[in-house]
Amino acid sequence: MQYCLHLLPVNLKIKGTSRGCVLLFRSRNDSKQAPRRELVMTRQVANSIITFAKTWHPNEGILILQGKKKRHQIIVDGLVIPPFSSHGPYYSGFPVYELPFDLSYMGTAHSHPGGSNKPSPEDLNNFYGFVSVIISYPYEEETIAAYDRNGSDVPITIVDQ
Ligand SMILES: [Zn+2]
Repeated sequence: MQYCLHLLPVNLKIKGTSRGCVLLFRSRNDSKQAPRRELVMTRQVANSIITFAKTWHPNEGILILQGKKKRHQIIVDGLVIPPFSSHGPYYSGFPVYELPFDLSYMGTAHSHPGGSNKPSPEDLNNFYGFVSVIISYPYEEETIAAYDRNGSDVPITIVDQ
């Protein structure tokens, strides 16, 4: 009987057979999928993003999300207007090096005056923080979306405080 010991991390039980190894139990961390990252924002933050986007229309506007990380949750309860930000119809940005190092900065929110709230390649290349919020025209709660560094959707929960 042959045991495939090289496949055997701690806490893993395998049963050797003449044909190979059968995995019986996986370690606890492997058996459960890691909880998906979630963005929780206060209604006040959501409303402020909406107002800010409308103010800058037809240009893009950009804000810094302020809050904290709690396990898989990113909780945003404040917004910061980045210094020296630039705004145009197809771009918005700010020099990251001008920002103080601040652990409460969770990411950015910016507006897309066009109809799509999908991140552009530039958005992903210039990713800042843990999460990127994009709001598209006509700037309503339903047109707010959030993405992680890979461009994958991050579900948003808006909470009343
Ligand atoms: Zn963008």
